[in-house]
Amino acid sequence: MSSSWSSAVMTTLMEVATGEAHTVPSIHIAGAERAAQSGETFATIDPSSEKILAHVARGGAADVDAAATAAREALHGPWGRMSPQDRHAALMTLAAAIEGHAELLARLETLDCGKPLSASAGDVRGAVATLRYNAGAADKMHGISVPLGPDFVDFTELVPLGVTGHITPWNFPLGMAMRSLAPALAAGCTAVLKPAEQTPLTTLALADIARTAGIPPGVINVVTGLGEEAGAALTAHPLVSGITFTGSVETGRIVGAEAGRTLKSVVLELGGKNPMIVFADADLDRAVAAAIEGGFDNTGQVCSSSSRLIVERSIKDAFLERLVARAETLVTAPGVDDRDLGPLVSAEQHGKVMDHIAAARADGARTLTGGIRPPGLDKGYFVAPTVFDAVDPQSRIAREETFGPVVSAFAFDTEEEAIALANALPFGLNAGVMTRDIDRALACARDLEAGSVWINGWFIGGVQAPTGGIKDSGTGRERGLAGIMNYLTIKNIGIALQKRDTG
Ligand code: ADP
Repeated sequence: MSSSWSSAVMTTLMEVATGEAHTVPSIHIAGAERAAQSGETFATIDPSSEKILAHVARGGAADVDAAATAAREALHGPWGRMSPQDRHAALMTLAAAIEGHAELLARLETLDCGKPLSASAGDVRGAVATLRYNAGAADKMHGISVPLGPDFVDFTELVPLGVTGHITPWNFPLGMAMRSLAPALAAGCTAVLKPAEQTPLTTLALADIARTAGIPPGVINVVTGLGEEAGAALTAHPLVSGITFTGSVETGRIVGAEAGRTLKSVVLELGGKNPMIVFADADLDRAVAAAIEGGFDNTGQVCSSSSRLIVERSIKDAFLERLVARAETLVTAPGVDDRDLGPLVSAEQHGKVMDHIAAARADGARTLTGGIRPPGLDKGYFVAPTVFDAVDPQSRIAREETFGPVVSAFAFDTEEEAIALANALPFGLNAGVMTRDIDRALACARDLEAGSVWINGWFIGGVQAPTGGIKDSGTGRERGLAGIMNYLTIKNIGIALQKRDTG
C-alpha cells in the first residue's frame, strides 16, 4: 500500500492495516498528533478476529479543552479569513487527497468495524462525494434583504456558527464523520471530532490527510476517547457552539440535555425501527430486493434499516418465502473476504443482538431463518441474517431497535391497519411503501410518521437529499443544503437612512 503522504500517524495506520498492532498517537490537535494528557489508552478490536488492532489515546476533558481551544484559534486564523471560493478550493483539494488514500481508508474501515471491503470502498466514495457537494455550496449560501420601508436598509448574512463538535457512531465511521464535518467546513466553521471508541481509525487518518492536504492546523481536530469522558466533555465545552450527534436514542437524550444546559445548537440523528409496508399489488421481486438491502446491508447496523416488514396478509407467505430464500444465499464472512455481510462491530453489540433474538423466541416469534452464529465462524462477532414471522407487535423485537441483521414480519388486512402498525412506535426516522398504486403510495407517504418515506425502494437518497428523524428519532436534518444551515447562523444588519426631503 503506497502513499504520497508519510506522517508518523499515517505510517502507523498503514502498519495497522497490514496486521501489526500499534499504539496510535491518536489525538489530533492543531495539526499534530499526541497522546492523551493522562497517558491512558484503550484498544480498538477487529470484530472479525476479536484481536486488538491498535491502542488509541483515551482522551478526556483536558484533551477536549485543548482541541476546542485550537479550533477557536483556527476560527480567527487563516481559515476564518479565507474567502468562500478559497474554502471551496481547499475542500476540493481535500476530496482529491482522500480519494488518493481510498485503498488505505477502506482497509482500515473494514478492519475496525468489520464491513466487507467493497462496502468500505463505497463509504469512502460517499465521503468524497459528500465533501465535493458541500465544497460546491461554500460560496452559494447567502442572506436576504428585508423590506423595512423607505427609511431603512436591512439585510441578513449567513455567518459560520463557530466551533462545532461532532460525535459519531461506529456503523459508518468515515461516512458519518464526513456527513457533518463537510457542511461545517463549507460553512466556515472549525471542528472537534469524537469518533466512536469502537472505530476511531479512519477519522484519525482523515485528520492527517487534511493536514497534509493543506487544511490549516486547528480546523479539524480529533479527540479519541470514551463517550462518557471525551464525548461528554465536548458536549459541555463552553467554546463549542454546536453539537452534531449520531447514535442511540438513550445517549441522544443525554447529549441533547447537556447541549440545552450549555445553550448549544444541536442536531440529533438517533435510532429507528423502520416499517416497510408491502401491499399485495407490489412488484414482489423489487419488494424482496428492497427488504434484503434494507434489512441486511451493513449487517443491519443502520439506523434507517427496514427492520419491520408489514405485509398484506394475502401475500405474506409468498413474500416471506422469497425473502428467506434470498437471505439464505447471503454469505457472512470476515470483512477482508469481501462477501455480503461482515460481523457486528463489537462483543457488546453481538450480545445485544443475540439477546433480542432470544427474547423474540421467548415471546413466541417464529424463526424462518438465522438466529444463530453462522456455521464455521467460531471467532468474530457474527450473526446469520435472521427473519422472524408471527411477531407480537407488543414484544421487544417489535418495539426496540436491534441494530443487527434481524427483520420481523407482521400481517395486515387494511391500509389503516398497516399505517397504525407503522406509526405505533416512538421512532420516526424512515418508512417505506411498496405498491404499484401511486395514489395509495402518496396517501401512505402523507400518513407515515417519519422524516423520510421511500416508495418502491429502500435507502433512496444521497448527499443532496435531507435526512433526519421526527419523534424519538431525532431533531434537525443533515445532507442537502439543509445540512449546511446547521453550521450557519443568521446575522441581521439594519441601517437607518438619513431621512430625505423628496419634496
Ligand atoms: P452505542 O451505545 O451503540 O455505542 P452511543 O449512542 O452510545 O451508541 O454512541 C454514539 C457516540 O456517542 C459514540 O461516539 C460514543 O462514544 C458517544 N457517547 C456515548 N455516551 C456519550 C455521552 N454521555 N456524551 C457524549 N457522547 C457520548
